[in-house]
Amino acid sequence: MILCSNPLPQYLSYKEEIDAALRKVMEKGWYILGEEVKSFEKEFASWIGVTQGIGVGSGTEALHLAIAALGIGRGDEVITVAHTAVATVAAIELTGAKPVFCDIDQESYTMDPAKLPAVINDKTKAIIPVHIYGQAADLDPILRIARENKLKVIEDCAQAHGATYKGKRVGSLGDLACFSFYPTKNLGAIGDGGMVVTSDVKLAEKCRLLREYGWAERYVSHIAGWNTRLDELQAAILRVKLKYLATDNNKRNKIAFIYNNALAGTGLVLPAVRKDCGHVYHLYVVRTKRRNELQKFLKEKEIGALIHYPVPVHLQPAYKELAGSGSLPVTEKAAQEILSLPMYPELTSAEAETVCQAINQFSKGVVQ
Ligand SMILES: *Cc1c(COP(=O)(O)O)cnc(C)c1O
Repeated sequence: MILCSNPLPQYLSYKEEIDAALRKVMEKGWYILGEEVKSFEKEFASWIGVTQGIGVGSGTEALHLAIAALGIGRGDEVITVAHTAVATVAAIELTGAKPVFCDIDQESYTMDPAKLPAVINDKTKAIIPVHIYGQAADLDPILRIARENKLKVIEDCAQAHGATYKGKRVGSLGDLACFSFYPTKNLGAIGDGGMVVTSDVKLAEKCRLLREYGWAERYVSHIAGWNTRLDELQAAILRVKLKYLATDNNKRNKIAFIYNNALAGTGLVLPAVRKDCGHVYHLYVVRTKRRNELQKFLKEKEIGALIHYPVPVHLQPAYKELAGSGSLPVTEKAAQEILSLPMYPELTSAEAETVCQAINQFSKGVVQ
């Protein structure tokens, strides 16, 4: 079976270093917010190109914290996309604010800036573009519209560690940015983890307070916060893996190169890379009207291809009050046609070729 994503071979690649790092933490006896988290926050923030990092419990919590740190809550609106992990929307609701959806661009699957002005009103406080699949959203027009309307921008970078927009790493362009270290993300822990990054020292300070009960010193709550911490074990693992992140992203690009060449004649719509942007292929997503048939065909050949995401957030039972069916036509159409092919750094060229052969067979109508 060729899996769509698989975090195990990455652990095995760096096993000795990870095991040693874990042992060091366990034997030290300091398990929460210690040297590992502090060092990882510094190293990751600097890798992204900002000065501040705040390690938290998950990507969802990173978003929750970032929105709350901006003072956004009940009565406010936050604009994002429905073509995303439900986490983006869940985080907005956790603050009491109302998620408002902007449709996507059909080529890049990211927020369509041309459709932004129509969803901005007096209650709007922030925009959360999602760098979906490993490619930056079109940040320049989004940042310009935000500035003109005095709105904050929080980048959702959960799928885009290392992706670039006009030469800069995503996460360094908005007011704040949020990362997830869920095991299958480009930088993945062996458990949950997340980080808020920013170069705004005051916002970072607010995030640090909110992360742990509003404490500046122990047991004194200066503001009302909660608990969402990255633990020392996960930070130690992530410090090891961060050293290899650029290499691992290159491996993903090599697999994408194989797919791009071998699938060019199949009639599938292949991923479009935005000009001046560096894609990190968290997912390699193709598009076809025969999506369900193709997914079934690949499954019979023991190839795992998944759909990210089959039901846009605004059409899910929990969120259907937010926007009606038909309100986001590009999003809704994409959800019917997209398919993610196997993609992770340790996927071999031979496995990628096997996937391509199967798809070529499918598109020629050869049934074995
Ligand atoms: C994974 C993901 C998140 C949430 O991260 P968790 O660590 O799973 O909470 C948020 N946004 C996007 C786009 C994601 O892919």
